[in-house]
Amino acid sequence: MTASASKPLTGKTALVTGSTSGIGLGIATALAQAGANLVLNGFGDTQAALAQIEAIGVKAAYHPADMTKPADIEAMIAFAAERFGAVDVLVNNAGIQHVATIDTFPVESWDAIIAINLSSAFHTMRVALPAMRERGWGRVINIASVHGLVGSAGKSAYVAAKHGILGLTKVAALENARTGVTVNAICPGFVLTPLVQKQIDDLAARESLSPDAARAKLLGEKQPSAQFVTPQQIGDMAVFLCSDAASEMRGSALQIDGGWSAQ
Ligand code: NAD
Repeated sequence: MTASASKPLTGKTALVTGSTSGIGLGIATALAQAGANLVLNGFGDTQAALAQIEAIGVKAAYHPADMTKPADIEAMIAFAAERFGAVDVLVNNAGIQHVATIDTFPVESWDAIIAINLSSAFHTMRVALPAMRERGWGRVINIASVHGLVGSAGKSAYVAAKHGILGLTKVAALENARTGVTVNAICPGFVLTPLVQKQIDDLAARESLSPDAARAKLLGEKQPSAQFVTPQQIGDMAVFLCSDAASEMRGSALQIDGGWSAQ
């Protein structure tokens, strides 16, 4: 099938890490609606995620790679190439959070956050970029965060990883600047996903708040719009980054954060 205006990614294959839930599933859905075949990854209800993408009418497959394991990541990229011929769009989205002050931060949580939220993007890119260059076209989209631009107390590993992935994005963009491969990052503010729901639940328990009050407090402290960003909005931004209009965006960090980083 050839690409049409409404399905510009027809014939392309996208791999989204951590796409069984939240933002990753939103991005996978938007890319599938734009016509791309999908390789999904992540834990939890993998069958439901696969069914959701297949219902859009594209081909989808799932790979169980653990983003803390470079060998798994290599196997996942090889699986995508075998199954669909190539990875044209790579979205590094898998991520976890842990909130604690530096002096009480569990060492294993630091290591896991750096591995999943930062190092996994190095490993996917080091394996996927050569084939994108050979094919003369590719899109890498790194899901950073507003925490790639500013800090928040209690989020040392997350903030370090997200600042790191913005640096990695710039270097990868520069190394491919004379090719058809672009590398950019998206920096969302709060999105109501399981990762943020846990922070709301913790706040409610800590301060004896109702779920609604905890949600409003978490948003109100940081996000001037007082609205959550949606996975759909981030998915649409990813589709835009795959378009010709974005072909000279190289190494950019796009905020979508309800005004958080404007303060
Ligand atoms: P989520 O918990 O809903 O989803 C995380 C995904 O990553 C899941 O599919 C999970 O299975 C997968 N995952 C976790 N550990 C993994 C591992 N070791 N290997 C493979 N997959 C793994 O979280 P989310 O909020 O959708 O977060 C997705 C990304 O968006 C993360 O990088 C996060 O830092 C970023 N982000 C989230 C927000 C937010 O407010 N929710 C804001 C800014 C950035």
